[in-house]
Amino acid sequence: MQINAARVNERLAYLTRFGTTPDGGVTRYAFTPAEQAATNTVAGWMAEAGLEVRRDAVGNLFGRLPGRRPGPAVLTGSHLDSVPNGGHYDGPAGVLAALEAVQSMKEQGIVPEYPIEVGSFIGEEGSRFPHGLLGTSFLTGTFPCDEIDHIADRDGVTIAAALRAHGYDPARAAEAAVAPGTYKAYVELHIEQSGMLEARGLPAGIVSGIAGMRQARGVIRGRAEHAGACPMDLRRDPMPAVAEVILEVERAARELSPATRATVGFVQASPGAANVIPAAVELSFDIRDLDGDRRDACVERIRTFFDEVSRRRGLTGEFEVQHTSIPIRCDAHIVQTMHEAAAAINLEPFELPSGAVHDGANVSLICPVGMIFVRSRDGLSHCPQEYTSPEDIAAGTSLLAETLLRLAK
Ligand SMILES: [Zn+2]
Repeated sequence: MQINAARVNERLAYLTRFGTTPDGGVTRYAFTPAEQAATNTVAGWMAEAGLEVRRDAVGNLFGRLPGRRPGPAVLTGSHLDSVPNGGHYDGPAGVLAALEAVQSMKEQGIVPEYPIEVGSFIGEEGSRFPHGLLGTSFLTGTFPCDEIDHIADRDGVTIAAALRAHGYDPARAAEAAVAPGTYKAYVELHIEQSGMLEARGLPAGIVSGIAGMRQARGVIRGRAEHAGACPMDLRRDPMPAVAEVILEVERAARELSPATRATVGFVQASPGAANVIPAAVELSFDIRDLDGDRRDACVERIRTFFDEVSRRRGLTGEFEVQHTSIPIRCDAHIVQTMHEAAAAINLEPFELPSGAVHDGANVSLICPVGMIFVRSRDGLSHCPQEYTSPEDIAAGTSLLAETLLRLAK
């Protein structure tokens, strides 16, 4: 089916005005004037397209194209919030591609068997409140509602206060959870945020799954001493131990599989002075894989090495797992449907994993999920340089439209 490539790209360009930063990026947090203006603009476009527009109890926005049957609906969409000084494509590309697909159907007189809903979910990035995938946590009924008065932004504004300030009753936030069977599928288009599509010269690809993450914190303790006075063989210096651990983190992920990712993104020595052997060094671990067992095996290998190196060097180590998210396999039927949709538009079907977490990880708790990635220039995202060409947006939107058409049949 035909989509209006100019329109989806014009809308994408139009949204860049809401929350623009001095170096051309965007800062658009949940329930801020910039995010509300972007959301209201999209709501206006949904109404213009003739969709039934509504917001749920926490401000998730929906535009519905009715089907011949009342339900269950096919849900598609993404988010309009951003990270600090992020890019203009992460999130908005998925909301606007979904709107374009559905608007084009309506203009061409296509009435799907099942309704199709375009969703824009609040607070996906977790940049303002320390709770990512906020909107879909409410939607899927997994948000801990007794925490609504406690989870606050850096200024101490709680989620409850932010809701109240925007006309929502936090006491009714749980009503955003949808009944089982409301949706028959969820499909999200998103920028790739990596360079696999670019390396293969492809505008868009089919996501095979969303990696599960396990984050841990480690501390290795030794003895602070004078960097000049203490001889090398009398030291209990945690820093070389940390260096060994970091190399093992890289080795473990490389040896396990191409889908395993392991990162040490934070290292802090204390007291942290050039002329003092550190008393302790703290470091972070972020391990991800599409295969949860393989991911956990990677974490255990790192933990074993961490303990061994601490012991061998006469140091004490603490290793603590802090956060785990489950890996999601994209639904086999939706993936197959995407292969058919790709064939219909002469796009080479290429499957790739998502290393980043997306709303689909939450939505998979209530219905089958699929994702489409569009090419990110230089693989960059979460920065002002984030870019996807108008041609790639158009190709991804076509793939989404063909997929939705088939899923809503
Ligand atoms: Zn995103």
